[in-house]
Amino acid sequence: MAEENSFLRARFEELKTEHPKLDILDFLRRCRVEYLLNIDLLKLVDEIALYRIKKQIRNKIPETPFGQELENNFDHSEYLIQIENVGNAILSRLEDPGLKNLIELFRKDDNIVREIGNCVLKSEYQYFVNRAKTIGIDVDLLTFIVDTPFIPAYRELSILDPEELYNVRNRRCLVCGRLINLGIYKRRKLYLFCKLCRTRIHVDQFRCHNCGNTDSYQLCFYMLEGQPELKLEYCKVCKTYFKTADEDKIGNVDDPLLLDIATLDYDSLAQKKGLSSSNTKEHKPS
Ligand SMILES: [Zn+2]
Ligand SMILES: [Zn+2]
Repeated sequence: MAEENSFLRARFEELKTEHPKLDILDFLRRCRVEYLLNIDLLKLVDEIALYRIKKQIRNKIPETPFGQELENNFDHSEYLIQIENVGNAILSRLEDPGLKNLIELFRKDDNIVREIGNCVLKSEYQYFVNRAKTIGIDVDLLTFIVDTPFIPAYRELSILDPEELYNVRNRRCLVCGRLINLGIYKRRKLYLFCKLCRTRIHVDQFRCHNCGNTDSYQLCFYMLEGQPELKLEYCKVCKTYFKTADEDKIGNVDDPLLLDIATLDYDSLAQKKGLSSSNTKEHKPS
């Protein structure tokens, strides 16, 4: 993996001086980065299924997120091992009883392992809201853990053309189906940037990727003084926003989680303006 973006790192360190609790988000982010460095994706998902889906994508971009096609095409016992690995790495620093419950539950019940894996692939956020309550774990921590083992498979399916313009609805990722709250400008092109699978989707800058509005007077942005590198972009019609970074100004952003946590002040700003990341209320980024 490439080096951390120094602009974002410095910005995050500054935010952290005011909000020391942000450190835990950075710890989780590092756990994921480390996990992804050492993982062999082909142990988890069926190689033939992956090959078949990639072939389909090359022929025609499907309507549903590509990752959904992996439903039932993963190895449950390997998924259990991966969840234990990610979970134990987190437990090394974060004493979380809910997380212990999750690992216990996985060990006991093979059907749950299958069910949770399939719900990850179908991006069923509401399922995890309910499941988190019964397990006694924070829903964001739950989705963070159960999503992580599938990232390498999503990355395999992330075969979009950086030159081609794609149509995105409800600002959902074409690969994993998650809501996207980040964007990247590179050589004056705008790419939506998925926080989970890191897919970059080249999109029209003059269109809302949540509601489809193309009235440029209703598409606005906000910048903090002295920070031309970052923007809060929003649509007045559907009142949703996303956060963008300009790679031509700050260099490569490889880790979307670092971009996300280094710009959390923009989320507070957006909330003050009455904006939300999604107006469908069903999906949240994880
Ligand atoms: Zn994605
Ligand atoms: Zn809109």
